[in-house]
Amino acid sequence: MSKSRSSKYKLSKAAWNVYNSFRIGRSYQSLLLHESNFFNSQRPEIRHHQVDSLRSLIFYAEQSTPYYTDLINGISLDNLYETIHDENIDLSFIPILEKHHIRSHLDTLCSTRYKPRDRIKNSTSGSTGTPLNFYQSRHYWNCRNLSVYYFDRWAGWDFGDPQLIIWGSLAEIDSGKILKEKINRFWRNQYWLNGYELTELQMKITFEKMQKVKPTTILSYPSSLYQFSKYLSEKNLIPDWNIQGIISSAEMLHPHYRTLAESVFNTKVYNRYGGREVGLIAMECPEGRMHINCRDLYLEIDSTDPYNQPGDILITQFNNYIMPFIRYRIGDIGRISDEMCPCGNELPILAELLGRSTATFKTKDGKLIHGGYFTQQFYKLKGVTQFQLIQETLDQCSINLVINDEWNEDEKTFVESVVKDCLGLGVSLSMNYVDDIPLPRSGKREFTISKVT
Ligand SMILES: [Zn+2]
Repeated sequence: MSKSRSSKYKLSKAAWNVYNSFRIGRSYQSLLLHESNFFNSQRPEIRHHQVDSLRSLIFYAEQSTPYYTDLINGISLDNLYETIHDENIDLSFIPILEKHHIRSHLDTLCSTRYKPRDRIKNSTSGSTGTPLNFYQSRHYWNCRNLSVYYFDRWAGWDFGDPQLIIWGSLAEIDSGKILKEKINRFWRNQYWLNGYELTELQMKITFEKMQKVKPTTILSYPSSLYQFSKYLSEKNLIPDWNIQGIISSAEMLHPHYRTLAESVFNTKVYNRYGGREVGLIAMECPEGRMHINCRDLYLEIDSTDPYNQPGDILITQFNNYIMPFIRYRIGDIGRISDEMCPCGNELPILAELLGRSTATFKTKDGKLIHGGYFTQQFYKLKGVTQFQLIQETLDQCSINLVINDEWNEDEKTFVESVVKDCLGLGVSLSMNYVDDIPLPRSGKREFTISKVT
């Protein structure tokens, strides 16, 4: 990387190191180096780590977490050695953890070996608007941060390098008003653009700021990144410095988002997949494959043929003993692959990720259709900038569309036929052409909503 390191960079890098080393009580750089060794290990070692971590966690949960004591009462380590080993991992004896279980068993899901004051509360907005609350430990957060720091380096990020963050969550943006957060951003060398206020003025100011600061990476919601890229492209504003990479997180990264951002910033977009409940799940490598974070979690596909037939993603988190998440249905659909990646990293690959199953549609004859199906169909359309499909009743759907110059009759007919083929010929579809589809409070764009299910 040929660039003159500013004193701000040096200050920021030193501050990261001191701050993190103080928190964990040892040199953070050496810890990161040590952990990186695991992420770079070979398949058999990775598998062995997963087996060990699963056995320990499940045994611990049965012993100390009332919810799991009831569920898998009496399971011994010997039983676990039989069902979980290097050749085969069978977790089918543990029922899947659903979000509604967490809502109704929040207390019994917590380990009795931790004091309530050690629980760090966290929540997700949930697709229904009802927040999902849960608890995490300090250890979980240390592991989670370390993984983010490791994987973000694939995109060219490093401690102290200036980073532009385009984020849309009100909760996170509001805290920017607090002095503490401002100080944090200063020493972390982060510059923020509020994803909620992507006005032309804000984007112009941000671009001018970036010309001076020259961030090496961008971290963004893909939809906000797309809007920003589109603005720069339309105004012919060309970043004239070298951006190492762009990290896209928290939403579905659609191919046209990626294409535009990569051409405007002349760099690669890296898709980072995670969830607040379980941390970083997978990260895209320079060769474009999503590698699974096997140090922190075990990923299963709820499908009879997970290599060919996509299914719900189930996550078992290894580091959060305070409230174990075992076989947690996170709400996304995926498929795994056993290929070896040309990048040389041997972490297994998540071959397909079909976005948040925020909505499940229901047909008149009772069939359930995953909302991701429509997303997959509609993102191919060049004339559609944004869309939101809403199932109002079993007979009626509406779609909000932000269109551009390439929208035409063929695309309109395509949208109608996708909806009718899937939900039934008798279903009426009203198309609403709008200027914008506002982000919900969570900041995560909802492409599909069903008021029926
Ligand atoms: Zn790779």
